[in-house]
Amino acid sequence: MTETNGNHVKILILGSGPAGFAAALYAARAELAPLVLTGNQLGGQAALTYTIENYPGFPEGVGGAQLGELFQKQAEHFGTRVEFDLANKVNLSARPFRVQTEAGEYLADSLIVTTGASPIHLNVPGEDTLLGRGVSYCATCDGAFFKDRKVVVVGGGDSALEEGLFLTRYATSVTIVHRRDELRAGAILQKRAKEHPKIQFVWNTAVTEVLGSDKMEAVRLKNLQSGDETLLEADGIFIFVGHTPNTEIFKGELKMDSHGYIEVDHLMQTSVPGVYAAGEAADPHFRQVVTSAGMGAAAAIQATRFLEAESG
Ligand SMILES: Cc1cc2nc3c(=O)[nH]c(=O)nc-3n(C[C@H](O)[C@H](O)[C@H](O)COP(=O)(O)OP(=O)(O)OC[C@H]3O[C@@H](n4cnc5c(N)ncnc54)[C@H](O)[C@@H]3O)c2cc1C
Repeated sequence: MTETNGNHVKILILGSGPAGFAAALYAARAELAPLVLTGNQLGGQAALTYTIENYPGFPEGVGGAQLGELFQKQAEHFGTRVEFDLANKVNLSARPFRVQTEAGEYLADSLIVTTGASPIHLNVPGEDTLLGRGVSYCATCDGAFFKDRKVVVVGGGDSALEEGLFLTRYATSVTIVHRRDELRAGAILQKRAKEHPKIQFVWNTAVTEVLGSDKMEAVRLKNLQSGDETLLEADGIFIFVGHTPNTEIFKGELKMDSHGYIEVDHLMQTSVPGVYAAGEAADPHFRQVVTSAGMGAAAAIQATRFLEAESG
């Protein structure tokens, strides 16, 4: 791809999740003809889940993939261009910013990074095939599907305990499986979890397989001290062993925290003027569709003001 006008855009948005399409909607309505590069996951993480019941405006819930399609349609309706392409290198040292992709190179007067984050996987057999059919990385999202069921939670940090406690609202039992014999989570959370009648702990143990054909039926556990293997029947497994922001390509270009989340101020501005970040790429805290979309909209409003101030 060569440097044609089509490849030099006023606003380039990396990512097609809730943050990306919300940013695109606002930039398009400001008549800036934004370009969205989708990455490998059109619709983002939201598109991976069967139903989303906590996005405002859908009292009956909405399919995750369907919501992604609606976001895209609305953004395109106002003039967003969408390309199925993945950014793999950026140069933000001068403007226009340069973004190399699998298909070529784009130049952008301003850039909105909405590349999201990916939950760290256990990488065990059955984990990918039973995703959405028992395997989940989001209790807030999927917990309600496990009413009166048995679930397993993997992890020993704050998220594992917070989400495990949340799951007790629905599940009859929550078994927390942890690799060590002590938790990393804060003391108050530990106390609440240990005292909860629905929560049991299995220590020094790893999940080595998720079993089930149509839906999850059990997990295989391995005691890391004795090597003994056991099967534990359960309807769901919630994995909270960490999140990785998809920000590798911005290392050395944008200021990040020690976990790789892009640092932004309250206006979604990064360390480089004209570059904004929104959604899970910049947010280790909320990780929801509505919060990510809100940040995306804010980033686009700010990028629009930046470009307007420049053009006088
Ligand atoms: C199984 C599951 C169920 C969930 N259920 C709910 C729910 O019910 N309710 C809720 O509020 N939240 C839910 N969440 C969380 C929600 O999906 C996320 O908070 C939200 O999608 C984050 O939006 P985002 O736009 O920041 O990033 P993401 O959705 O992660 O999207 C990132 C986008 O960036 C693209 N990308 C990545 N790297 C590049 C690159 N180099 N170049 C170009 N593009 C790139 C990806 O292809 C993707 O399109 C769920 C998450 C999961 C995993």
